[in-house]
Amino acid sequence: MYGSHLSIAGGLNNALDEAARLKLETVQVFTRNQQQWQAKELEPQAIAAFRRQAASLHFKDMVAHDSYLINLASGDESLRQKSIASFSQELWRCSQLGIKYLVTHGGSHGGDGEEVGLARIADSLNKVIAQAPPDVVLCLETTAGQGASLGWRFEHWAQVIKAVGHAASIGICLDTCHVLAAGYDITTRRGTEAMLGEFDRHIGLERLRVFHLNDSRRELGSRVDRHTHIGHGYVGLDAFAVIVRDGRFKSTPKILETPKGVAPDGQTWDAINLRVLKTLERGKRPALVALPEDTKVAKVAIKEKAPLRGRKKSARNDKKVTVKA
Ligand SMILES: [Zn+2]
Ligand SMILES: [Zn+2]
Repeated sequence: MYGSHLSIAGGLNNALDEAARLKLETVQVFTRNQQQWQAKELEPQAIAAFRRQAASLHFKDMVAHDSYLINLASGDESLRQKSIASFSQELWRCSQLGIKYLVTHGGSHGGDGEEVGLARIADSLNKVIAQAPPDVVLCLETTAGQGASLGWRFEHWAQVIKAVGHAASIGICLDTCHVLAAGYDITTRRGTEAMLGEFDRHIGLERLRVFHLNDSRRELGSRVDRHTHIGHGYVGLDAFAVIVRDGRFKSTPKILETPKGVAPDGQTWDAINLRVLKTLERGKRPALVALPEDTKVAKVAIKEKAPLRGRKKSARNDKKVTVKA
């Protein structure tokens, strides 16, 4: 089941309109402005319109991503409490809209260490779950481990799940860009299968409820989160071929969080990336559409080799086109 993270600018239904144009089977959205703490309550008409359109598209397993302001691991107690309240509200918004999964990065320990941070996330989730709607699955996302963010090792989320009561309502979202950046070598079929085996051992594949399918602009183990188009980064095509051809994941939402925009040939990049995934699913090798020169990934250790000016430019480009989710 394929989907994409689509914009709700101008209204929640805009994401569904675009999903329909792309012939997707599901969608990922923010249910609110993700850069503000305050969110207006959803209007009953907006809820009804969203539900009506989702039903007519037969979208059952929709996904939402939480606000980037939320940090369930924060050492600043007032910020953590605010995060718990805000995250709970987001779960209820999902419930109102008929969205099944709410994905979160969990949070960052801010220098206090991973053990302390993981304990704070478990405590936060216990509070969240105590007042959560029964029909939404909270999904912890595997992260790139940038800065002090948690969840870049499968052991992290295994530990949190263990420490949370009523963990039945917790799932995992596996992001291919993030796992590579975190150091799991998924550059080959065998490596991808080994990664899934490791996931199964630590967490259990039954908890894998959502995929984020993104290639990575940064190399294996870089711990830097930069998405790029499928097949154009350090992940390469093999990992995607394994995931989309695995029958166990047939009905698992697979969400693109790759850069938006239109390729030189006039097609949207979402349409191109979808075609690549569907070609892989049929067991064929897709032809890749060339990237614009300035977004190509130079397969060298970018940090050391790129001149400063080039680096700054590419960082700016990332900001413009990358969904940092
Ligand atoms: Zn990301
Ligand atoms: Zn993601």
